Amino acid sequence: MSKVVTRFPPSPTGFLHIGGARTALFNWLFARGRGGEFVLRIEDTDQARSTPEMTQAIVDGMTWLGLNWDHGPYLQSDRTELYNQYIERLIASGHAYYCDCTPEAVDAMRETAKAAGKKPKYDGSCRNRNLGPGPGRVVRFRAPEGLCAWADMVKGPMEMDFEEMVDDFVIRRGNGSPMYNLAVVVDDAEMGVTHIIRGEDHLSNTPKQIALYLALGLPVPAFGHLPMIFGPDRKKLSKRHGAMSVMEYEAMGFLPEAVVNYLLRLGWGHGDQELFTRQEMIELFSEKGLGTSPAMFDMAKLEAVSAHYIKEADPARLAGLLPRFLAELGVADPDPARLAAAVPLYQPRAKTLREMAEGMAFFFAPDQALEHDAEALAKFVTPESAPLLEAAARLVEEAPVFEPEPLEESFKTWLDGQGLKFKAVAQPVRVALSGRTFSPGLFEMMLVLGRESTVRRLRRAAALAGA
Ligand code: GLU
Repeated sequence: MSKVVTRFPPSPTGFLHIGGARTALFNWLFARGRGGEFVLRIEDTDQARSTPEMTQAIVDGMTWLGLNWDHGPYLQSDRTELYNQYIERLIASGHAYYCDCTPEAVDAMRETAKAAGKKPKYDGSCRNRNLGPGPGRVVRFRAPEGLCAWADMVKGPMEMDFEEMVDDFVIRRGNGSPMYNLAVVVDDAEMGVTHIIRGEDHLSNTPKQIALYLALGLPVPAFGHLPMIFGPDRKKLSKRHGAMSVMEYEAMGFLPEAVVNYLLRLGWGHGDQELFTRQEMIELFSEKGLGTSPAMFDMAKLEAVSAHYIKEADPARLAGLLPRFLAELGVADPDPARLAAAVPLYQPRAKTLREMAEGMAFFFAPDQALEHDAEALAKFVTPESAPLLEAAARLVEEAPVFEPEPLEESFKTWLDGQGLKFKAVAQPVRVALSGRTFSPGLFEMMLVLGRESTVRRLRRAAALAGA
């Protein structure tokens, strides 16, 4: 078998969204698992709707997801010459012809067909007129007859009549620009693409493309059409559900490997396995695991996958990613040592980097300016707790070894001596150190803050409590 070549050909009319990213991933995996090559091609023939910013955004999204390409990014707008060569070939071989029907005339033909209960179609008026080139004239493909069949990698054997599916569609516009179906076939053939996995919204293009391959005498690649992705309400994926740029997931604090693993499971499965390393995905991915029913986007599931990857991640890497999220919360230049110490406290539970940053921001507040939650302050930092907070400050100040276990021991001994339960000091100390009623363990928190900050925060709260 020849070398496997797959491609991802987005139109740069929008960001790289979840559906596009899934298509890119599946094609990338298919190539990578077979020693093949992966092509990135930007389909910008619709110049009015394509922008360089969107092309860059697609490249950024692919890079963030780690979906590297072996060839490209090619721009279709650079390849008009090549498309014209193929169009000329089709005209010369009688598979295409010039047409001067006005858009209004074509609309009228469609209406007539509809009124007769037929599929709206161009009626072939110019087929045998032998027109030459002329201003505003389009080039149409001469639709074939007979059976169009292919073995879809997802849907299985497909059979339809060319006549049903393909009319004499335009392959070059009146302004000279090539149309999508022509450009895509020329590119896929020129780039040696062997397998095309794409959304089933392209299903109606496939017979047109097969017809073009046949007319050009080119080998037809394998096609696979993926079911769409729905939101949890079973409606088309909307912005609210995640039809937004993958880079917004980065901004929400997801790690790229979590997004990739989640995308993989949107329509592909291997038994009931949920988590896959990149190597495993590459080895296991094949068309056999592709589902035929629509996939459902589920934020809670993405968060669960994300929590797993945050827990597993190298703490130093997370420490490198967190400053951006802390900055959004007003924490500029977090102390690196304190950040490194805080990260492991949040790894076991956090769903996103943003959530980690929200949890740990208090560590980086100046001791004298830490904001306390008003309710927590009123409830736990009271005149009764003032002496306890002061005693706690002294214990920390005088502890011979500043480490969680000995600290906890010395607190216990002191509380036992006072006939008090740990509960009596836990919340006041927690509020004093973190400003809130939920936080990591008290003594772990003290370790991150260091002895001096811990003492300062306890004394400040004692003063507030006594006031
Ligand atoms: N440019 C097309 C799109 O963005 C892709 C077409 C294809 O996969 O053949 O939907």
